[in-house]
Amino acid sequence: MQTFRGIAVSPGVAIGEAFVLDQEGFRIPNRFVDRDAVEDELDRFRHSVEAVSAALNRNRQEVAEQLGEQYGAIFSAQLQMLCDPQLQNEIETHIRSRHYSPEYAVSRTLRRYAKVFQNLENKYMAERAHDVVDIERRLLQELLGRQREELSHLKSPVIVLAHNLTPSETANLDRNFVLGFVSELGGPGGHTAIVAEALELPAIVGTGPILSDVSGGDTLIVDGENGLVILDPDEETIQKYRQQAASRKTQRAEWQSLRELPAVTLDGTELEIKANIEFPREVEACLDRRAAGIGLYRTEFLYLGTEEDPTEEDHLNAYTDVIKAMDGRPVVIRTLDLGADKMGRGQSNQDEKNPFLGLRSIRLSLRNLPLFRTQLRAILRASVLGDVSLMFPLISTIQELRQAKLYLADIMEDLEEEGIPFDRDVKIGMMVEVPAVVLMMDRFVKEVDFISIGTNDLIQYSLAVDRSNRDVANLYDASHPAVIRMIKMTVDAAIKEGVPATLCGQMSANPIYTSLLLGLGLRSFSIPPGAIPEVKNACRLTEIGHCNEIAMKVLEMDNGQQVSDFLRLEYARLRNLTEQEEGNVSG
Ligand code: PEP
Ligand code: MG
Repeated sequence: MQTFRGIAVSPGVAIGEAFVLDQEGFRIPNRFVDRDAVEDELDRFRHSVEAVSAALNRNRQEVAEQLGEQYGAIFSAQLQMLCDPQLQNEIETHIRSRHYSPEYAVSRTLRRYAKVFQNLENKYMAERAHDVVDIERRLLQELLGRQREELSHLKSPVIVLAHNLTPSETANLDRNFVLGFVSELGGPGGHTAIVAEALELPAIVGTGPILSDVSGGDTLIVDGENGLVILDPDEETIQKYRQQAASRKTQRAEWQSLRELPAVTLDGTELEIKANIEFPREVEACLDRRAAGIGLYRTEFLYLGTEEDPTEEDHLNAYTDVIKAMDGRPVVIRTLDLGADKMGRGQSNQDEKNPFLGLRSIRLSLRNLPLFRTQLRAILRASVLGDVSLMFPLISTIQELRQAKLYLADIMEDLEEEGIPFDRDVKIGMMVEVPAVVLMMDRFVKEVDFISIGTNDLIQYSLAVDRSNRDVANLYDASHPAVIRMIKMTVDAAIKEGVPATLCGQMSANPIYTSLLLGLGLRSFSIPPGAIPEVKNACRLTEIGHCNEIAMKVLEMDNGQQVSDFLRLEYARLRNLTEQEEGNVSG
């Protein structure tokens, strides 16, 4: 049994077999083959060696012809390694005596060799580890011949382990077979994490190197509460986690049973808990959790993972599905927020050194007006189908907001001329995600109908911490007093101007923050549908006077640790107190 630590980004427990994708997306295979198949598997291995030898020979000749013998010699060294009888013998013994699959035997043996090289003091020799890894890759490619698309053809339940998963790859994981996932890269606020939570898949990101220790078919536990990945767990540990999963299920069923009850505090203050979605198909989960509406529709996912940009009709169809299903409840459609960690095909700009500070989101839309226009026309056309609002992401200057609104007004004129119906009074809002905007909030609130605080970005820009980088994940902290003050400044300005404010960052999905956010004056949250029951429960347990006290105390604090310790304790106290009270009442 071995335990690895990562960043817990989506709660729940998964227990199952590992499906491992290495850095290039090759599946690291299952361990064992049937006894009867051993001879065939040995043949398969020998053929793969022949094929890779032939390829290396070709490479050697070509490179030697073009660049000279000394460069061709690089491949000769690899060839020598590959054909080393001791190495081949070791792999064949694994297949013959232990019934390892050739892929597993290759992986295991060559990774052991690579580790020996890596640990050598001599730097030149240590670099040879790359050559060994390359041989492994070539053999696996020969043996498997398939890449990431295997992810979409799963046939049995697995836990996916990968070096990295993009947000759209995560979104396409087959919920029927994927029990959870783990990635070596990724940070707490990245969109891969957000999509995992939307899919309600237990997930851990940012574990650092783990793939070389796990093989396909190994048993794993993903502990999405504590950020632990447990490899080859013993029976006792499996039982412990089975119990944990069962009590979590019971707890969730209990929260879910509150779904018909209103989101209201003990003192009768009415609240609004809406849902964040990325795809129309998530509407079902929103309805199931009785979301008051869609507070954030991340439409950029329409662009991810497709070959062509969506047409106006594609947009309109997606919006129509969502609006119709929400049946009169409000739907806030955010214009595309592409860029940074949400890159579609052909959009990646390798020259961008700081993509989160670069051409993303509204900046990208305003530079690509035809693209923006297609989307704005579709949103306006959809505006007559229900209670639709439109929201601009990542606004950082007043000019940007005005330019976007002006462009929208132009499109309204066009639609009018074309005789296409739309709601001229469609509400226009903006995301508050940039500290500069928070400081200028008194001006911005005069130019919009509503605001939505995007703490996922606000945290990263306030604290100068990349939301998707595991190396600085400890600094990405919603409890940082600066973040709390930013929220307070924003909400104060909105209340003063009478502009409705929602908080749609992941922070509001964590019930430890519920009382604090209410104490800061918020009355509306938008969160992943799966988080609604627990947050609603937290709202129903608290009371605004107490929330105000909590906010006052927190605003006096000077560090994030103090804030989160205090909030955790408060939340635990709130739950226990009421359980006791419930006990008293029923007793
Ligand atoms: C945010 O930044 O908090 C937000 C909701 O937007 P996104 O996570 O899509 O950047
Ligand atoms: Mg954002």
